[in-house]
Amino acid sequence: METAQNISIDNVCHDCKKEILIKGQEIENGVYLTYDNAGGKINAFKCNDCYAKNPALTNFQKCEVYSRVVGYIRPVTQWNNGKKQEYSERTEYVMPSGGACGC
Ligand SMILES: [Zn+2]
Repeated sequence: METAQNISIDNVCHDCKKEILIKGQEIENGVYLTYDNAGGKINAFKCNDCYAKNPALTNFQKCEVYSRVVGYIRPVTQWNNGKKQEYSERTEYVMPSGGACGC
């Protein structure tokens, strides 16, 4: 199974961060690109100006996320599939202020 990482979560140009305008299925001022990265796929938007200057993907660094699993802090990408699923279902807990501990 191939997984694609979308590194442009917002519709902005990867290089200059200019907004990419999308109307329906049409990209008005840029291109949507797919790059190979060590067997994986990376998707990114580029505006027409940046694509004309350099169509290659530069200044990309994969973000490594660490979290606690069975007592150890390990990169989430190295977890087994069951633990990855459990990680995706985790929710953030915010401690209420002025709790029972009195702090
Ligand atoms: Zn750009």
